[in-house]
Amino acid sequence: MPKGNHAQQHNQSTDVLNATTELSLEDVKQELYNRHHPSLTFLDIEAHAKTIWKIRTLKQKHNVVMLGHNYMEPLVFGLSERDEQGDSLGLSMYAAKAEAPYLIFNGVPFMAETAKILSPDKTVLVADKTAGCSLADNFGAEDVKELKALYPGAPVMIYVNSYADAKAESDICCTSANAAHIAKSMPGDTLIFVPDIFFAQNLEEELKGEKTVVYPGKNNTARGAVCEVHERFTLADLLAVRESFEIPKGHPHRQLYAHWECRPNVLQEADFYGSTSQIMKDIAERVADNGLERAFVASECELTSNLAQEFPNVQFWTACSVRCSHMAKVSLSKIANILEAIDRNEELGEYEVTLPAEVIDKARSPIERMLEASV
Ligand code: SF4
Repeated sequence: MPKGNHAQQHNQSTDVLNATTELSLEDVKQELYNRHHPSLTFLDIEAHAKTIWKIRTLKQKHNVVMLGHNYMEPLVFGLSERDEQGDSLGLSMYAAKAEAPYLIFNGVPFMAETAKILSPDKTVLVADKTAGCSLADNFGAEDVKELKALYPGAPVMIYVNSYADAKAESDICCTSANAAHIAKSMPGDTLIFVPDIFFAQNLEEELKGEKTVVYPGKNNTARGAVCEVHERFTLADLLAVRESFEIPKGHPHRQLYAHWECRPNVLQEADFYGSTSQIMKDIAERVADNGLERAFVASECELTSNLAQEFPNVQFWTACSVRCSHMAKVSLSKIANILEAIDRNEELGEYEVTLPAEVIDKARSPIERMLEASV
C-alpha cells in the first residue's frame, strides 16, 4: 500500500492529530483501503486521505453527527457511520434522536430542512447552501395552493423532495418507500400528489381502481417537476442495458432495478422497482440467498458506487454520466471548511439551514402525519 509523506503534512493537521490521539492519518488510509477497495483507486485515496483524516478528527472532537445520503460519492458517504447513512427521511429521523449539538447533512438543502423541522433546536449545517434539486426548486407553496383551489376537498400528499414552504401547505408527506401505503390510507376517492410528475404517473398506475391520483399537468396547467437524474433513463436505454450487460428479463440471478422517479415505461421494464431503501433491501436479500450475480440500477450513479462497495460479489454496471449535479456540490473540502469553522468557533451562517418558526410549525404536521401513517 502506498504510504503518505508525513514530513509534508501541514502544521494545522498536526495540531488536529494532537487534539485527539485516537486517529492517525495512517489509520484513516488503512481504513479507506479496506473499505473502498475495489471501487476507488489508490490515487483517489492518497489524494484525499489527509482531508478525510482532518474531517474525521474534527467530527470526533466536536461530537458532530454527520448524515450521509446514499447518493453521495463513496469518499463522502464513508465519512458517516453506518447508522448515519441512508435516505433523506431516515436520516432526518435519526437526526431527531441524535444527541449532538451539530448535524452536518451531506445532501442538498431540502433534506437538511426536514432534519431542521424535526430537530428545531439543533444546528443543521450543509456543505453548499446553493445546491438545489430539480424537484424542489420547481415547485412551491403557491403551486400547492393552485392545485388545492382546482380540486377543493382533495387531500394533498407531498413527496419529501420539496422545500418546507410547500410542505407547510400540504396535508401529508410521503417518501418513495411509503407513498403507495400512505395514499391508500388517505380519506376520499381523490388524492393530489405533488410535485413529481413521473412518480405521480407511476403511483396512478399502482392505485388504479382504488384511488384517483391528481397531479400537476394532468388535465390542468399547474406546474410540476421531475427529477433531472431519473428522467435521463429511457426505455431504449434499459433495453440496451439488458442486451449489452446480458440481463434478460426474468433472469433468476440478474436484475434490472428502477427508482419510482423514473418514467412509467422505464418502471414497467424493470425487474424490480421501488425506493432506494427497497432496492437495497432486495439486493441484500438476494445476496444473502446467493441469488444475485449481476445488476443495473437506474438511479444516481453514486448509489451504485456505494452498492458495489457494500456487495463486492455482485457485478454492478452503472451510467456514471447520470450524476446529480446538485448532490455533487457536496465535496470533502467544503465539509472540512464547516468543521474548521466549528473548530475556530466562527460564525456558521454560510452553512446553517434556518427556517422561520411558523414554517417549522406548519411543515412539521404533514411530516408527523406521515410518520404516524407509516407505522
Ligand atoms: S437526484 Fe438530485 S435532482 Fe433528483 S431528486 Fe435527488 S437531489 Fe433532486
